[in-house]
Amino acid sequence: MASEKEAAQAAANVPADSPTIFDKIIKKEIPANIVYEDDEVLAFRDISPQAPVHILLIPKVKDGLSGVSKAKERHVQILGRLMYTAKLVAKQEGLEDGFRLVINDGLNGCQSVYHLHIHLLGGRQMNWPPG
Ligand code: 5GP
Repeated sequence: MASEKEAAQAAANVPADSPTIFDKIIKKEIPANIVYEDDEVLAFRDISPQAPVHILLIPKVKDGLSGVSKAKERHVQILGRLMYTAKLVAKQEGLEDGFRLVINDGLNGCQSVYHLHIHLLGGRQMNWPPG
């Protein structure tokens, strides 16, 4: 499998409004280990976990939100909903000792899927600074 950096470089050359693998997960066309779902948000385990708990939270409607850098005023509600849901899922996963939320944006941010997502990472001691 390509490294995260290689995946990010490849993804940066695809138009940001193109469908992504996450559309297929939302439509249940490909399997995913879903841990939370409501009308607005889907949360599922990352296929390549970087921590004992590694969950992605995404808006079910992309609405131009290929990444956080593309956020408009109209996205404020869903951005807040995603963050709040991350907290709910962290509790559901038993991450009482803490966790990390990450949003990668663009090439330098190592974003590889252009459908906004929050990484919820936990279950181990994190380090700082990140790589
Ligand atoms: P990014 O690099 O864009 O911040 O994060 C994209 C994440 O999506 C990566 O951590 C990657 O492992 C995950 N991912 C890519 N394809 C799939 C997939 O088909 N299923 C799941 N569950 N995760 C995926």
